[in-house]
Amino acid sequence: MTNINTIVIGAGAAGLMCAIEAGNRGRKVLVLEHAEKIGKKILISGGGRCNFTNLDVKPENFISNNPHFSKSALARYTPQDFISLVEKHGIKYHEKKLGQLFCDGSAKEIVQMLQKECEDAGVGVKVNCTIDKVEQINNSNSDTAFRVISNFGEFSTESLVIATGGISIPQMGATDFGYKLAKQFGLKLTKTVPGLVPFTLNEGSYSELSGLSIDSIVTCNNASFRENILFTHKGLSGPAILQISNYWNEGDDITIDLLPGIDLVSVINEHKPNKTELVNVLAKFFPKRFAEQWCELNFPTKPVNRLSDKDIELIGKLLHEWKLVPKGTEGFGKAEVTKGGVDTNELSSKTMESKKVPGLYFIGEVVDVTGWLGGYNFQWAWASGFAAGQYV
Ligand SMILES: Cc1cc2nc3c(=O)[nH]c(=O)nc-3n(C[C@H](O)[C@H](O)[C@H](O)COP(=O)(O)OP(=O)(O)OC[C@H]3O[C@@H](n4cnc5c(N)ncnc54)[C@H](O)[C@@H]3O)c2cc1C
Repeated sequence: MTNINTIVIGAGAAGLMCAIEAGNRGRKVLVLEHAEKIGKKILISGGGRCNFTNLDVKPENFISNNPHFSKSALARYTPQDFISLVEKHGIKYHEKKLGQLFCDGSAKEIVQMLQKECEDAGVGVKVNCTIDKVEQINNSNSDTAFRVISNFGEFSTESLVIATGGISIPQMGATDFGYKLAKQFGLKLTKTVPGLVPFTLNEGSYSELSGLSIDSIVTCNNASFRENILFTHKGLSGPAILQISNYWNEGDDITIDLLPGIDLVSVINEHKPNKTELVNVLAKFFPKRFAEQWCELNFPTKPVNRLSDKDIELIGKLLHEWKLVPKGTEGFGKAEVTKGGVDTNELSSKTMESKKVPGLYFIGEVVDVTGWLGGYNFQWAWASGFAAGQYV
């Protein structure tokens, strides 16, 4: 049996960052990854350009049963720390919008950077590694706490870090390994549901508008986001919808202001002398296809001088406060993240170590901390990985 100081299971964003920090501290570290290569989710992230952090990261950008849990780790490894690493490796990047930083070139550069840092820190990485069993070693004469049995043989380790991520996009190698292991050691989990995910709507609602995108404010459960919404064949997507999906629970309604900052009632009244058709007034703000479909579904078009004050008020309300109850979401197959996971009450917010099982750590998306869209989930992965890396 090979003796290791720290075994990290999962070579994603959090696992690699933890391994680098622990390796730099002189620990003998081994990362075990079941996929054929490391960092597969990083490679597909941000449309292949990896939105690796956000300039403005606050604990309020994260959802968790305990909103305070992420504070310590986020404060100790900031976006600027990761930016410095990116700059050290000469990776060019840009702010796309809203503080979101992307590689100019490709997400591959981030994975190569992490790989180089692992090499420099003397971290061992094994890919195509199947973990058959993890056991606790109850031996008071030994420092080692866990035995990991894999297709590469048996390892014993003092610290075991679980960095296997969430279950979104199973086709990329996501598994529920982390949740199962947490249960094996008696740790509680919070409910896991798809996060940053498109909504499905009832049949026939707006599917003909598929591909149209509209600047909107979307609100649900006291959270609001102003960005585009996108009509899809199945329902609604786009950044504002993905963001609000993190705050939505089954059966909740969402409210969409399709004309933020515009006083539609005044606009319609201004067009009365010209007897403009309602559909043409709406087409000044929306793509024509949307204006036509909207009138067909909600309010038959007619010259606006023939609309009563009540009609105009209703039209304004329908467009500024479009209320709908999504049928559901497109599920884990389309979700960017998994909301929920290892209950933060089980972990130290300083070290990510289990309170019940000394030597066992959980980092990254497997923990019940979910970020907004826009580089926040990677920042949590880097920060929680770094936090654990200082102690494992
Ligand atoms: C399409 C897409 C785009 C995204 N874009 C962005 C973005 O631009 N910015 C952003 O901030 N976030 C983005 N995210 C979210 C982000 O990728 C994750 O939150 C982040 O990767 C989580 O890091 P992690 O290390 O916890 O998990 P992961 O990066 O998922 O890593 C987990 C690792 O564990 C391995 N693993 C799983 N099970 C086992 C097992 N049984 N044995 C061994 N290894 C195992 C996996 O193969 C994987 O390598 C995106 C997600 C998706 C799906």
